[in-house]
Amino acid sequence: MSEALRIVDSHTHLTSPESIKRLVDSSRKNNIDRIAVMSLSCTGESNISQNLHCALAKIMYPGKIFAFGGLIYPESGELTNGQELYEQAVRLKNIGFDGMKMLEGKPDTRKKTGLPLDSPVYDEYYQYLESSGIPVTFHVGDPRIFWDADKAPDWAKKEGWIYTDGSFVSKDALYSEVIGFLSKFPKLKVTFAHFFFMGEENIDKASEFLDRWPGVCYDITPGIEMYGSFSENPEKWREFFIKYQDGIIFGSDNGINEELVHIDTARRFLETDDEFTYKGMKIKGINLEREVLEKIYHGNFERRVGKTPAGINSKLLLEECERVLDYARHLKGPENIMTELKSLYKEIVKAVNGTTSVCHL
Ligand SMILES: [Zn+2]
Repeated sequence: MSEALRIVDSHTHLTSPESIKRLVDSSRKNNIDRIAVMSLSCTGESNISQNLHCALAKIMYPGKIFAFGGLIYPESGELTNGQELYEQAVRLKNIGFDGMKMLEGKPDTRKKTGLPLDSPVYDEYYQYLESSGIPVTFHVGDPRIFWDADKAPDWAKKEGWIYTDGSFVSKDALYSEVIGFLSKFPKLKVTFAHFFFMGEENIDKASEFLDRWPGVCYDITPGIEMYGSFSENPEKWREFFIKYQDGIIFGSDNGINEELVHIDTARRFLETDDEFTYKGMKIKGINLEREVLEKIYHGNFERRVGKTPAGINSKLLLEECERVLDYARHLKGPENIMTELKSLYKEIVKAVNGTTSVCHL
């Protein structure tokens, strides 16, 4: 191919201050131009430092990193209306976040919040995102085998992603809840992560959904099994990718753990008609034209989010650090969480004062 394709990785993660440089280095190795880091919603004390890590990354690599913030849920029973969630979204926007990430549609998180995705509690929040054109990347669903004790893989069980005890919402119920909030907020710019787990459904269902909701996109962040599903019917899926070339966005989940970089495999699937095996799966490439690839790799993301990441408002970010620390104190969680937050706070103070070297991709 002539000039190298420019790629924005729309879906990556951070786990610690050290992971920021690791992610950036690994992205650079994979010829990724810019990245978007996804915060994870915080229920209880889990993920409490996620937004702050994302903001720190933006300060360290100015102009290169987009950040999508996550909501922090008050302790159960304290959330009586949606005002609190709306205010958090406004704060994150003002700090310099480029969008929101929601994990609330992953069955275990959905169980923890106890909130249907179309609950009126979210109305004010969605209304704000819709009217301000703020993009949201939303994880809804999971592979169907996670609801089947015989078929669920051991690694998923170990993570607690086994949904057979009757306390989890079904995949179909989650899809209905999505229709519920999109009916109220049809212009919401939602990108459903992991292809909305539609790769294992059928092509007609995946198409009908995009036809019905023009503001919606799918990201093609693995679940690598999704590429296996596509490869079972490569001609049909090729047609799909061409027809919906404005609705598909590249992402990798890079950074979620060490080995999980499937970028080469995803690119080989998209850019060639090679037949190859990856992790025991047969993959058959769909060989898309450059024009289509340009949209999937950066055009669609930039149309929704912008070409340049927002800058960080340091004063508001430091206020947010104080707020998160207060929240953690109030939770009386394990001591190591306070220690982690305090040292992260220090890193952020150093970064905003310019005493950490600012790096360039
Ligand atoms: Zn992810």
